[in-house]
Amino acid sequence: MFQNTKDSKTKLSELGEFGLIDHLTQFLKVKHSSTVKSIGDDAAVLDHEQQTVVTTDLLVEGIHFDLAFMPLKHLGYKAVMVNLSDVYAMNAKAEQITVSIACSNRFTVEALEELYSGISAAAELYNIDVVGGDTTSATKGLTISITALGQAKKEEITYRSGAKPNDLLVVSGDLGGAFLGLKVLQRENEVFKVNPNAQPDLEKYTYIVERQLKPEARKDIVELLKALKVKPTSMIDISDGLSSELMHLCKHSKVGANLYEDKLPLDPLCISTCEEFELDSTTVVLNGGEDYELLFTIAQEDFDKIKANPNLTVIGHMAEKKEGIHLISRMNTKIPIKARGWNGMEEEN
Ligand code: ADP
Ligand code: MG
Repeated sequence: MFQNTKDSKTKLSELGEFGLIDHLTQFLKVKHSSTVKSIGDDAAVLDHEQQTVVTTDLLVEGIHFDLAFMPLKHLGYKAVMVNLSDVYAMNAKAEQITVSIACSNRFTVEALEELYSGISAAAELYNIDVVGGDTTSATKGLTISITALGQAKKEEITYRSGAKPNDLLVVSGDLGGAFLGLKVLQRENEVFKVNPNAQPDLEKYTYIVERQLKPEARKDIVELLKALKVKPTSMIDISDGLSSELMHLCKHSKVGANLYEDKLPLDPLCISTCEEFELDSTTVVLNGGEDYELLFTIAQEDFDKIKANPNLTVIGHMAEKKEGIHLISRMNTKIPIKARGWNGMEEEN
């Protein structure tokens, strides 16, 4: 995970808006020939030869993140990841982002430097040009909005709507870790509130804390599928939880699905953490969000191409719409799946 943190002292007003933008973006380099004009004019100019994929996410302090346990550098990194993940879920190549920030004067120049160091690290690692954005003051808190742009050939783009009955349902990586990482961080934060001298004991939870604080968008899976010559029939990224994403695929593709409980990919640390928190691991996998894995369907004849890959797990298959959407339990009972994904809106009440 990232190391930091610097002393924070410089008020934003000392640099002014333009000085701040220059300061934060000074080390960014353009990497793609599709970026004709980057930061510095009234608008960026892009030259996408293929179809353009565009996606935006808005992250609001207190709704989507808590700075009590989310370091700013991680927040910057994660804000980029959630957007890239949406581009990859279209089976496209992400090439540019814009970054818009609104923050109150409680934030210092050093704090925004931290945020930007996470954004730059993500852009560097995922080969992305930061081509613009907006920076403004706000009366309260921090809001960050990123737009990601990518491109893909028309025939490569994968929609939520292409799944057919009997297609195999496949997921990358493992699930539930990000939610359990959040549980651990929230618990440590409560301990800290009661006893500020308590040292957080996070070492044994490193994998799941990283899943929460530093998720990775699955660029590698899009590249892997291309190398294997597998075009998914439908695809979505897992931001809200497996059950709600599966329901999106089923709804848009007008199909049903059977998901097998014994196939759900869980890291051993997730299983032991579920036991510790007295949580049912299947419920965590179905409803825990923010894993940013890819959920997709493939035609049965493509099974041989993916079956040996440790990054991919077949967890079920699509069915006729009238059959509905079910979890087949370990006891071989059929349980209807309902969406209980995370809903940022709910937290306002
Ligand atoms: P305008 O007044 O036209 O909105 P700005 O002064 O806000 O222009 O921005 C100047 C340049 O800096 C533009 O290219 C804009 O896209 C870029 N920019 C502004 N804020 C950010 C940011 N947070 N990250 C990256 N680029 C930014
Ligand atoms: Mg502006």
